Amino acid sequence: MVAEVLAGEHVHLTADAVYSRAQQLLPEISLATVYNTLNELVDMGEVLEISTGDGPKRYDPNTTEAHHHLYCVGCGALRDVNPEGTDRLVLPRSQQHGFDLVDVDIVFRGRCPDCRAALTRIALT
Ligand SMILES: [Zn+2]
Ligand SMILES: [Zn+2]
Repeated sequence: MVAEVLAGEHVHLTADAVYSRAQQLLPEISLATVYNTLNELVDMGEVLEISTGDGPKRYDPNTTEAHHHLYCVGCGALRDVNPEGTDRLVLPRSQQHGFDLVDVDIVFRGRCPDCRAALTRIALT
């Protein structure tokens, strides 16, 4: 159910958004169930959890292809991106603090075209 709601490309819903979509399919579903299911899906590796810095965590069903993210600081839009040069991104051993690295995830932050246009309109008025 929750997995169905998350299907698709460039889908990065918050838990609240998953909840409201799941409710349309199954009105009696509870927010706790949605949270529990999301946590299970993350534990099983079926869904990625992304923190964008500010704002709530997003849940991303795109686990088949390694990717990074482009985040709009204006409206919170999140796109999947495949930046160049990440294969050469290395954390020197001296910086690993004894950690066994399992993953890296890069978030590019900026303003999407809509938010840029909105800023321009404000500047012009
Ligand atoms: Zn935006
Ligand atoms: Zn993604």
